[in-house]
Amino acid sequence: MKRVHIREEVCVTCRRCEVYCTVEHSLSRDIIKAYKKERPRLLARVRVQERGALSVPVLCRHCDEPSCVFACLTGALRKDPETGAVVLNREKCVGCWTCVLFCPHGAITPDPQRHIIAKCDLCSHLPVPACVANCPNEALIFAEEGVGA
Ligand code: SF4
Ligand code: SF4
Repeated sequence: MKRVHIREEVCVTCRRCEVYCTVEHSLSRDIIKAYKKERPRLLARVRVQERGALSVPVLCRHCDEPSCVFACLTGALRKDPETGAVVLNREKCVGCWTCVLFCPHGAITPDPQRHIIAKCDLCSHLPVPACVANCPNEALIFAEEGVGA
């Protein structure tokens, strides 16, 4: 399956991936409205973590054996057998954060204001996820394993 691969060595900590993730999942898909008007503001499903001069975008790896799916108490998370993506059924998520504890990559963000999680869905409605399309430095690559990644 195609995944978002991370090249942290060229990440410049601009956080455009976070911004465009938020906009793409907002109601308006408009950067001004998403940030200034929509409340509570959506959390990005990618987080750029910094330590000193290093920065690493963190997002779901869509694992082959996803701990989050096994841990989810309500069946809100599942692995799509066709695409391989680990997807969230928002109706079933009760905001218990069990998956947050189980994800070994720290890729799930709790959204306490909505009582739901924020997690990458690979922008399944787009040919290329918004974070990848808007990264100015190709620090994020959308590809099959071993193909340009
Ligand atoms: S958009 Fe690219 S370069 Fe900018 S912070 Fe995100 S991954 Fe790093
Ligand atoms: S949320 Fe974590 S455990 Fe679940 S598929 Fe993504 S990286 Fe794997």
